[in-house]
Amino acid sequence: MTPTPSSPHVLIEGSPLARSCGSTGVSFEIFERSESRYARPEGWAVALHAILPEFFAAMPDDMPPHNELTHLHPLKLGFEFAFYDPEVSMTKMGYRDDYRDDGEVEVIRANRHRLRDWLLTNLPVQNGKQAVQVEENEDKVTVHFRDGTSATGDILVGADGVKSVVRKHLLKGVDQFEYDKISILTSSLRLEGEDLAEQLALGHSAYMVVLQGPDGVYYRYFVGLDKVAPDGKSADYYFHLAWHDEDAPRDDHWTHSLSAEEIRDFALRAMQNLPRQFRCMVERAKLEDIKVPPLRLVTILLDSLPAGRVTILGDAAHAMTPFLAQGAVHAIKDALSLGKALTTLPDSSRSTIATSLGSYQEVMLARGRQAAMESRMAFADPSLPKTMFARQVVSLPEDRITL
Ligand SMILES: Cc1cc2nc3c(=O)[nH]c(=O)nc-3n(C[C@H](O)[C@H](O)[C@H](O)COP(=O)(O)OP(=O)(O)OC[C@H]3O[C@@H](n4cnc5c(N)ncnc54)[C@H](O)[C@@H]3O)c2cc1C
Repeated sequence: MTPTPSSPHVLIEGSPLARSCGSTGVSFEIFERSESRYARPEGWAVALHAILPEFFAAMPDDMPPHNELTHLHPLKLGFEFAFYDPEVSMTKMGYRDDYRDDGEVEVIRANRHRLRDWLLTNLPVQNGKQAVQVEENEDKVTVHFRDGTSATGDILVGADGVKSVVRKHLLKGVDQFEYDKISILTSSLRLEGEDLAEQLALGHSAYMVVLQGPDGVYYRYFVGLDKVAPDGKSADYYFHLAWHDEDAPRDDHWTHSLSAEEIRDFALRAMQNLPRQFRCMVERAKLEDIKVPPLRLVTILLDSLPAGRVTILGDAAHAMTPFLAQGAVHAIKDALSLGKALTTLPDSSRSTIATSLGSYQEVMLARGRQAAMESRMAFADPSLPKTMFARQVVSLPEDRITL
């Protein structure tokens, strides 16, 4: 679709997920703070589900096939998310409809770099453009970058993540985000040979164990495959050990001063009663791959935003904990609905744009807030995901995997 002379010019700050709103025929530019496409480590895969038909339909016809997005590529294994309950038995369980791709419900657990590359097909991105300030007036909006340059357009979309500069502009400098009461220790690691085959058999894509540590605390141990090497012989993994922790929002929380070795020892103590094949991920983790200081999880719950020439999407608007795997899905939903709003704008006047973005924001914030609260609740109950899966728990087939 070719932009018409009256179409607004849209500035998109941040995420390539916003390409689904830039694929609509409007004129747009994308700015990204990273110096290059791969400057940011993107250590965890992202599960896309429930949105895939709409998402792919919104992509232009010249996109490459999406079958290589899956983190399992080039292995011929389907998505599978298993869970284990040491209080019952260590058999492989799942909630079949959602947690194993059996040909009926498509789930793509995508490696982030592959997803980013795919989304950026034929799209020019201006790297090294970190937004630091936004100025909005009746006729235009201007975003200023750290390198001293600026860009001016009719609309600015902040897809700039949890610490969004664009959100701060909309909230007039009074930011609104909360650290969650969750501590989370995490590491990446590379596996090959028998170790890799064993982890794939435990859950092709990922698995979760809810365990009670010797200290009585319930921990959630999550292991996820990030990507497989092109020859299929090795793969990058990551794990998280998370627990409910009232003090986690404190800046001086004790986990922030742990060394990598102390993090590994803590995790191994918590998991001491798990069978060897579960503990071995933590044992294999190299100290330099353990995240120090640990990740801090953030939830953003916004009721409303002022309507004008500036809006936001994704984590900038409704960051949420990752335990229901909803964050990227909602960022895509936002981008798709914003894309629709942008294509139907009759002119670039402030009132037209404010009406359209105001309607988009109302629906987007209500939906995102709901998902953020559900994601938070999913952790508030220590017995989850047991209850989450309790609806239709099925035994998943035990696999023997040969590489
Ligand atoms: C451990 C973990 C696991 C997760 N797993 C899942 C999952 O399985 N499924 C799921 O749906 N979600 C998952 N999520 C959530 C998901 O990662 C986010 O919801 C999603 O990445 C949000 O996308 P976004 O585009 O809004 O923000 P981001 O992915 O954070 O992208 C923001 C972009 O903006 C750029 N940027 C930031 N500031 C500026 C600036 N000032 N100027 C210019 N550019 C800027 C950044 O460099 C980045 O490229 C997970 C999150 C975590 C932490």
